[in-house]
Amino acid sequence: MAPTQGPRAPLEFGGPLGAAALLLLLPATMFHLLLAARSGPPASLPGLEALWSPRALLLWLAWLGLQAALYYCRRARRAAPGLTLRCGSGFQALVLTALLVGLGMSAGLPLGALPEMLLPLAFVATLTAFIFSLFLYMKAQVAPVSALAPGGNSGNPIYDFFLGRELNPRICFFDFKYFCELRPGLIGWVCWLLYVGDALWHEEAILTTMDITHDGFGFMLAFGDIAWVPFTYSLQAQFLLHHPQPLELPMASVICLINAIGYYIFRGANSQKNTFRKNPSDPRVAGLETISTATGRKLLVSGWWGMVRHPNYLGDLIMALAWSLPCGVSHLLPYFYLLYFTALLVHREARDERQCLQKYGLAWQEYCRRVPYRIMPYIY
Ligand code: NDP
Repeated sequence: MAPTQGPRAPLEFGGPLGAAALLLLLPATMFHLLLAARSGPPASLPGLEALWSPRALLLWLAWLGLQAALYYCRRARRAAPGLTLRCGSGFQALVLTALLVGLGMSAGLPLGALPEMLLPLAFVATLTAFIFSLFLYMKAQVAPVSALAPGGNSGNPIYDFFLGRELNPRICFFDFKYFCELRPGLIGWVCWLLYVGDALWHEEAILTTMDITHDGFGFMLAFGDIAWVPFTYSLQAQFLLHHPQPLELPMASVICLINAIGYYIFRGANSQKNTFRKNPSDPRVAGLETISTATGRKLLVSGWWGMVRHPNYLGDLIMALAWSLPCGVSHLLPYFYLLYFTALLVHREARDERQCLQKYGLAWQEYCRRVPYRIMPYIY
């Protein structure tokens, strides 16, 4: 019998109205940015002929097929403790993809034409996200209640379509959310090689993120993963393609240094928490101060997690700045990512805070008292 209700949670993102607005606003913003990166703010909407291309559709399907095949052929790995997903090797998929693309180029594939196809590619990615989210919504009708996410089962179809009803929808061992979070979109965003390579190298770390453990899989993540990430997060590269900027060695060195500092904080914080969650008696984290909680899990209160309550967000934001700086300061557009990402992480931090307060109660309040700053020491 199909379930009609799962676990309930307070409405987020402005409820059904907010979800309906985001369903339209996110794709509209993406297309606006794509057009603006090319030739400034568009004066009118692009016609269907600028958006639709059978070649782009074929290329997109080939890309999805390749990534799905690489995912399918993955070597099964042990999942993070307490979770039942199986991991593949994203980094191997990245290397194999790079090799195949290199081979394709040496065989004469006209990959240089790719930037000209960005608009139709983004269009088919958006169509895919809508159709795929509809499939996920329908699939959740026959999923057991235990498979549903706490957030996406309000009973309002627009809200639930947006947030996602099922937590980790799968067919056999093909995990749709895991695949979408790490493969076609992330690898398509490879202009940030360090960031993408790091995420795929530490692929298993995704298993403990809010996306996997809390949020359902619906339009928000499906569109975010396969359309928004590759097409919007690569805005700086698109901008530079159409507006080349001079970059002297001293400035390039400063930017690399900022990126290295951001990466050091981001990787240090994420690895420290992952190591601690996997094995609290690991010598790398055993000496850190902790607070016990009623659930039996402990919270780190020294090391990176004693500096602010989200040191990983701080490192991520510093890197976001470094990825935008090569575009110079004459345009605001390449800084869209930094601005948007700041808003996303501030909102995400507040969501996580609510969930942690619910999970850990008094222990979380004690943690907040001892570590008063959320993301930026002495500022926020
Ligand atoms: P986090 O990795 O920050 O995890 C938050 C969870 O960590 C909490 O729910 C809690 O879960 C645990 N935790 C919090 N404080 C402590 C502590 N003091 N000691 C031990 N455990 C603690 O969550 P995210 O999923 O938001 O982020 C993961 C990474 O992904 C980040 O680096 C972020 O910057 C990045 N990210 C990137 C995005 C992008 O678009 N580029 C988008 C979103 C995130 P529990 O206790 O249950 O383990």
